[in-house]
Amino acid sequence: MALFVHKYGGTSMGSTERIKNVALRVAKWHDAGHQIVVVPSAMSGETNRLLGLAREIMPQPDQRELDMLAATGEQTSVALLAIALHAVGKEAVSYAGWQVPILTDSAFGKARIQSIDDVKVRKDLDAGKIVIITGFQGMDEDGNITTLGRGGSDTSAVAVAAAMGAAECLIYTDVDGVYTTDPRVVSDARRLKTVTFEEMLEMASLGSKVLQIRSVEFAGNYKMPTRVLSSLTDPLMPLEVETVSGTLISFEKESSMEQATITGIAFSRDEAKITILGVPDRPGIAYQILGPVADANIEVDMIIQNQSVDGKTDFTFTVSRADYLKSSQVLEASVKSHIGAGSIAGDTKVSKVSVVGVGMRSHVGIASQMFRTLSEEGINIQMISTSEIKISVLIDEKYMELAVRSLHKAFGLEND
Ligand code: ADP
Ligand code: ASP
Ligand code: MG
Repeated sequence: MALFVHKYGGTSMGSTERIKNVALRVAKWHDAGHQIVVVPSAMSGETNRLLGLAREIMPQPDQRELDMLAATGEQTSVALLAIALHAVGKEAVSYAGWQVPILTDSAFGKARIQSIDDVKVRKDLDAGKIVIITGFQGMDEDGNITTLGRGGSDTSAVAVAAAMGAAECLIYTDVDGVYTTDPRVVSDARRLKTVTFEEMLEMASLGSKVLQIRSVEFAGNYKMPTRVLSSLTDPLMPLEVETVSGTLISFEKESSMEQATITGIAFSRDEAKITILGVPDRPGIAYQILGPVADANIEVDMIIQNQSVDGKTDFTFTVSRADYLKSSQVLEASVKSHIGAGSIAGDTKVSKVSVVGVGMRSHVGIASQMFRTLSEEGINIQMISTSEIKISVLIDEKYMELAVRSLHKAFGLEND
């Protein structure tokens, strides 16, 4: 007997039929003698629907109230799943995050989990019950409901698995594993049997939304074996087949795919670029520009400062598109009041494409192959950033899919 945490995403919970299938799958695992905690997401489209209702009332609603609202999506899911498990003869009990409790900080909309109390859950499990806990949410020390950011149920699941010392955390979703790139963009993307934790972290941080980045961080910090697999298969398929399906995140130092230099291509559509023109080239200027941006809790990604001509330079950085307006507002104020720059230019039609792989470390020429491939497609590179295991470029959004497809092919990542 072992303890497993199952996470089911929005599509997997998308209708009562799908929820009944989830119940059959969970019941099968329980019948095999395992203890099961399930962490479901809201039904697909529900979180967007709820947030949309608030925005019908005002454009920028209070974030505390948005969390209160969005959290109800997962609350519906857990109750429906408990009912579906009762319907197949299982004892099951559902909890909202605050009832466990899952304690978080108070950063509404992007809260971080601080602790998980497992006493109640263990008692239920020991009494033979299946426990269902809402994904995506917790409670701060003042008792406010908080949410963990979009896609946050992955993080809830891995955090619960880590807190309870589960044998494995299984992330059931609408694809059957982690692919070399998003299979919705490249139809012959190849499924990876394993992916190193480092590569998964990089892929997630560079935009591969199959796992929320914080869930990968939790998996790494607690060495929690985590598997991504499909919920759309036959729920009654043999357990021994299901347990080795999908993609396992491994904690090996190097990729198990011996010859592979590149693991995959990640992309992020929602980027924005801000350039401050005619910045005086003097010590402290980068801090003066980016300090106020950081103070406004906005994450900056790529940064370039050009060579100065006549003591003036241009300074460019990227933020996620959702933060573009706020960043421009912050800069307008600081650039005018004390930086003394010429003007600010913005571009919200840019995307980032990255090649990722731990094997890159020992291979030269990856960057040149990437740049050659893009040039052959006539795609202009606006910004570049590199680390030991990735190269990212910022390009016009209209070439994003073309870039992903041609790089996927150029690096030989397609299915055999
Ligand atoms: P869930 O609702 O189950 O959390 P998500 O939509 O958040 O599902 O994540 C699954 C989706 O991630 C897939 O449908 C796929 O389009 C996308 N995706 C992006 N990059 C990858 C990748 N490298 N491998 C697999 N799926 C990916
Ligand atoms: N329901 C939340 C969202 O749509 C959390 C999740 O699905 O992981 O972002
Ligand atoms: Mg998700």
